[in-house]
Amino acid sequence: MTRPSAGPPQAGRDPRGGSAAVLGGRGADILVDLRSDTVTRPTPAMREAMACAEVGDDVFGDDPTVNALQERIAELLGFEAALFVTSGTQSNLVSILAHCQRGDEYIVGQMAHTYRWEGGGAAVLGSVQPQPIAHQSDGTLALADIEAAIKPDDAHFARSRLLCLENTLGGRALPLAYLQAATGLARERGLATHLDGARLFNAALALGVAPREVAQHFDSVSVCFSKGLGAPVGSALCGSREFIARAHRWRKMAGGGMRQSGVLAAAALYALDHHVDRLADDHANAARLAAGLAGLPGVSAPQPQTNIVFVDVPSERAAGLLGHLASRGVLATGSHRLRLVTHLDVDAAGVDRAVASMRDYLS
Ligand SMILES: *Cc1c(COP(=O)(O)O)cnc(C)c1O
Repeated sequence: MTRPSAGPPQAGRDPRGGSAAVLGGRGADILVDLRSDTVTRPTPAMREAMACAEVGDDVFGDDPTVNALQERIAELLGFEAALFVTSGTQSNLVSILAHCQRGDEYIVGQMAHTYRWEGGGAAVLGSVQPQPIAHQSDGTLALADIEAAIKPDDAHFARSRLLCLENTLGGRALPLAYLQAATGLARERGLATHLDGARLFNAALALGVAPREVAQHFDSVSVCFSKGLGAPVGSALCGSREFIARAHRWRKMAGGGMRQSGVLAAAALYALDHHVDRLADDHANAARLAAGLAGLPGVSAPQPQTNIVFVDVPSERAAGLLGHLASRGVLATGSHRLRLVTHLDVDAAGVDRAVASMRDYLS
């Protein structure tokens, strides 16, 4: 099998209290899910925080838990205001729409989530065109390429309005000096700047700085609570009060006005209290995974900076690999290049199991 055919994959062990009853069929065999850090399930303590959340109608601005989360994340990242949104995709979308008008463009990397993995939303829904440029080998966009992509004020061209960066990008943390230089260039040329910081906390940990040091260079920043932080749902967009007011209108239009969403915000607040420092465990487990895999015949697995490990396996052996791993309770994605992600629900024993399963297959 490659993955369960019905229902969400669930771990066979039952560390989350009470979920054994809902485990279905082959899903019960899955022990180590390395497909993404989005697969985490809320811990019992997080569920407790959600169940106890004080709530109101957030469309009326009445939900105290949502308000508390928005104030908390804005303060943490050094912004005036924040908006709790359904997903990272919605966060990036309403940000681009709040920065840009119809006929504007945003400059973005070819591999950036905001360009490649969000259904072309800014173009489809906002008539904002992307201007993608190639990444350097370290994931950055060369300053000269950004400069060359900024168009002069000429009726032939879209108006270059926004620079979108991503950190981490493919598991790599872009250095602070680069963020400063790239956003400085954008600002000098009259562009606004947005950071897709879905894994901003991983980036800050890898760089050894406070999260606001990464965020401070940008006019707006999006962060996900549903990745390594382990919340079931939700992201936040941060910016100036005036910017967030514009984003709020777009969120409503995008169907993201939620009601007693304090139940969800409570999970995010819990994550900020309890799941930020432990990201170091995920980075350590990713390093352990890469080290284990790099020792296998024909395998290349460079040491990761954060919680994402890229593994190249001999292409003639790639076909049956995912099925073999799944038969051992290890879920992964990719083909001859696997992308393995560590998180809250993967421990060192799980990592060792994944390495052993790969060793069995290759030898
Ligand atoms: C996951 C992710 C998003 C989008 O998040 P969703 O909540 O899945 O919409 C945006 N950017 C990056 C870099 C991501 O990894």
